[in-house]
Parts: sequence; C-alpha cells; structure tokens
Amino acid sequence: MASKEKRQVVVIGAGPGGYAAAFRAADLGLKVTLIDPEVNPGGVCLYRGCIPSKALLHVAKVKQEAVKAAALGVQFEDPKIEPQKIFEWKNEVVKKMTQGLGELADVRKIEYIQGKAVFTSEKELEVLENEGKKYTLEFESAIIATGSLVAELPGVKVDHNLVIDSSDALDITEIPENMLVIGGGYIGLEMGSVYAALGSSVSIVEMTPGFLPGADRDLVEVFQEENEDLFENLYFETIVEKVTEENGKAKVGLKNSEGVQEKEYDKVLLAVGRKPNSAHLNLDKAGVETNEKGFVKVDEKRQTSTANIYAIGDLTSQPMLAHKAHHEGRIAAEVIAGEKGAAYDPKVIPAIVFTNPEIAWCGLTETQAKEKGREVKVATFPWTSSGKAASMGTRKGLTKLIFDPDTQRILGGGVAGKSAGSLIPEIALAIEMAATAHDVSLTIHPHPTLSETTMEAAESFLGSPTHLF
Ligand code: FAD
Repeated sequence: MASKEKRQVVVIGAGPGGYAAAFRAADLGLKVTLIDPEVNPGGVCLYRGCIPSKALLHVAKVKQEAVKAAALGVQFEDPKIEPQKIFEWKNEVVKKMTQGLGELADVRKIEYIQGKAVFTSEKELEVLENEGKKYTLEFESAIIATGSLVAELPGVKVDHNLVIDSSDALDITEIPENMLVIGGGYIGLEMGSVYAALGSSVSIVEMTPGFLPGADRDLVEVFQEENEDLFENLYFETIVEKVTEENGKAKVGLKNSEGVQEKEYDKVLLAVGRKPNSAHLNLDKAGVETNEKGFVKVDEKRQTSTANIYAIGDLTSQPMLAHKAHHEGRIAAEVIAGEKGAAYDPKVIPAIVFTNPEIAWCGLTETQAKEKGREVKVATFPWTSSGKAASMGTRKGLTKLIFDPDTQRILGGGVAGKSAGSLIPEIALAIEMAATAHDVSLTIHPHPTLSETTMEAAESFLGSPTHLF
C-alpha cells in the first residue's frame, strides 16, 4: 500500500461500535476503511465478551435445567461436563458470528485492514498491519472505536494462569476445583455462575454490600433466592488486599471490618470492571481530549475536540455495553454523512445480566429515585401469579415499573426472572415513547407469555391487576 493514501472515513476498532459505524457509513454512500487486529470484525463483544460468555451461560443453563427437570418428571443421568467440547463449541459460535460480520463488511465494499492504527496528526494515522507493514493513511474523517481493557486492582497481578481475567475465563479447558471471583458486577456474576454450574466451588468477593451495585435489591434478590446453593461463599463489603502464589495455589487476603482472613484458591478471576482503551492512540497528536479517567470527550454528535474525529463506544463513557456502542456508531456515521438531525440522545440504556434467572433494568431505578429524593410510585407484579412462569416450572420472578405519580408516565422498570432480557425492551420503548400506565395496560399482551407481567404491573399501578388482589 502506498503511503499517505487518503481515505474518506477511517474507523479504528471493529467492535459493535466500530463495525456498526462502518456499515452505516458505507450504506450512506461513504468510502470506508475499517482497521482492527482481528481477522474479522467483532471486537471484544464477539471475541472475548458478550457472545462467548452467553454461549457458556447457555451451556450452564442447559446443565442446570437438566438437573431441575427431575421435578417435572424427566430424569437424565448425571450430566458429564466435557470442558474441551464446551471450548470448541463456544469457539464455533464466535467463528460463525465474526465470519458473518466479515461477509457483511465485504458486501458493503468496506476496506478491512488487519492491524492497528495510532494518530500522528489530526489528519493522519500510522497503520501497523499484523503482518508487519507500516504506513501512513490520511483521512477526511475518523471514528475511534477502540473499546476498553480489563481494569487492574492493586495487589492483584493477572498472570493468566492462577489469576485470570474475563478473556482467560472464557477459554474454559478445565473446571478448577475452587475459584474466587473478585467483583460482583455483571461479568463476575455471569462468569462465576458458569463455573459454579459446571462444577467449581465458586466464591465471590465484592466491596459493596451486594451484587450488582446499580440494580434495585428486589431484583437481585430473585437471583439470590433462586441460587441459594450456587456459590460457596459470598464476601460482601470486603476487599482483596493482595493475591500471592503459594505451592501452586492463589493465596488471597480478604479484608473487611472484622479484619483480614487468608484463603486459598485454585483460580482467581479478576472482574472489577474495565477502563477505556485510549492510552496508546497518541490522541494528543490529533488534539483529541480525554477526561481524567481516559474516556475520550465527545458531544451529542460523538464529535471529539477535533472536528473531523469522532469517538464511540466503551472508549467514551459508561455504561460499557455493546448496544450503546452500536447506537453511537450509527450516529457518528450519520453525522459524517451529513444527516442533520443525527444526535446521541437516548432516554434509557437497558442493562441485562444474563444469569439464570436473568436480571434486567432500564431508566430510573427505585434506588436512584430515593437517592435523588424524587417522588415515584412503584408497581410490581410477582411471577407467582403468572401462568406462563408456572408452566415453565418457575415461580420466582418479578416485574416492576416505576412511575411519575403526577403524569403516570413510566420512568423506569426492571425484570428478574427467565428471559428478563427479552422483556426489558418493552419497558425501554415505553419510556422512550413517554408511555403512561394506561398505554401499557390497554395494550393487549398475548397469553400466556411473560410479557403479561409488564401489563399486569401497569394494571397494578392503576389499582386493578387481574391476577393479584
Ligand atoms: P470493543 O468491542 O472493545 O472493540 C474494540 C476493538 O478495537 C477491538 O477489537 C480492539 O482490538 C480494537 N483496537 C484497539 N486498539 C486499536 C487500534 N489502535 N487500532 C485498531 N484497532 C484497535 N455488553 C453487552 O452489551 N452485553 C453483554 O452481554 C456483554 N457481555 C460482556 C461480557 C464480557 C466478559 C465482557 C468483557 C464484556 C461484555 N460486554 C457486554 C461489553 C461489550 O463487550 C462492550 O461494551 C463492547 O464490546 C464495546 O464495544 P466497542 O465497539 O466500544 O469496543
């Protein structure tokens, strides 16, 4: 490739933000170059995040459901876990999905460069291809979508053997006898659930008083009640002082208000969050500003402090979620293509924890409302009254809606139970459309489905739920 070739739009990083931006820009008639070290688009989400973790959670759920089926009159023999096969199956899922994205890039005639790019000025990038070729690319517009990296914890060194990160944890080739997960956020809870379901004795340590600090407690309790025996020990309001290796085991110092205790584990999974992947990009050479945490500063058009450079996804802000990155990617592409109204202005970004059962929420939480001193009305529908839940062999579940007491508009909502993640978009849409309790309760929901629980929560707010008294 000749040096200083000029490109119309260069997208750096091909995760859900970057590939969505590239695809949208190409669909809008722009000439697009997409740069990423992987052989196909996908980013963390497809290679080391959302998709492989959900594939493993599916395996864990199949095992859990097979065991529970005895109560429904179907007996299986004791499940035999074959980690190597699980590993191969998960890789197959990743390969199929990322190859599909590669094909979608090809049909759009997107130039895909396998390598890395860093800025040399506000108009130029230095590209280093995986094969070693190095050259300069000039661009009219660039979209930075380099995502995030695993956050570190002082005193805990990830050696990818005894102490692993989420990427290592996804490459299951053995089930350790016991394991400590540091961090009770969604990644820790999901991966901890997988290993526990597959036979590890898993303990979780979390510095706050419970799992998932952002979620309402009544939703989290549904998960905990359903999984009373899943984990060995839960250490809340506890921090990890340090992890050292001793006789092939990880020796962990756990500190809480009562003092320090030492425990030994076969594996420790560090899952304390992620940080923006911005440090290596030479952003100063392009005049692109970051905040003190390393997030690239952007406006509602996803434009950075340099007018022709945009940034999207995990790199720009919390929440670090694929659907947020995807949405931002499309907005940035539309802005570059000259679409006047394009701006990032979501009312809600749904969050889902894909455990068994799932926990999902969006918009204002009850906890946030209390913290802000905002008056709200909360209506819940417990799944003990749902025919669909009962027919699926579960009675544990909760659907809740949070209302503005004056306007009766839905401000937030949450669902905990089977398929909660598939129920939350209705609540998100209701909030985006400024729907009221009447709008939801007057919408005929099909029977028997779990979606009825949202309608009944709205009816509950209005004082007349059919299946509650
Ligand atoms: P990324 O997906 O991080 O992609 C960035 C890409 O840029 C990478 O391929 C990287 O190699 C590349 N890159 C970096 N530097 C350069 C450079 N200099 N030049 C070229 N390329 C570069 N989110 C959800 O919404 N749902 C989930 O269920 C979910 N589960 C997750 C499970 C795990 C275990 C993890 C770790 C994350 C999960 N996430 C989930 C988060 C999700 O993966 C991220 O929010 C999402 O991938 C962010 O997309 P992105 O486009 O910003 O960047």
